[in-house]
Amino acid sequence: MDFDFVCWSCGADCSVYGKPVGFWTERYQLPAEWECWNCDAINITPDDDD
Ligand SMILES: [Zn+2]
Repeated sequence: MDFDFVCWSCGADCSVYGKPVGFWTERYQLPAEWECWNCDAINITPDDDD
């Protein structure tokens, strides 16, 4: 599943792939950080634990 984040540096919309984890819960493992496709800035994935 892809998650959309906005780059902190340039404001571009970035799709980050989250790998499904677990079986019964809808949880996804996102990379801790990812690189903006537009400006190559390193973005930290926001924590969205319930
Ligand atoms: Zn950027």
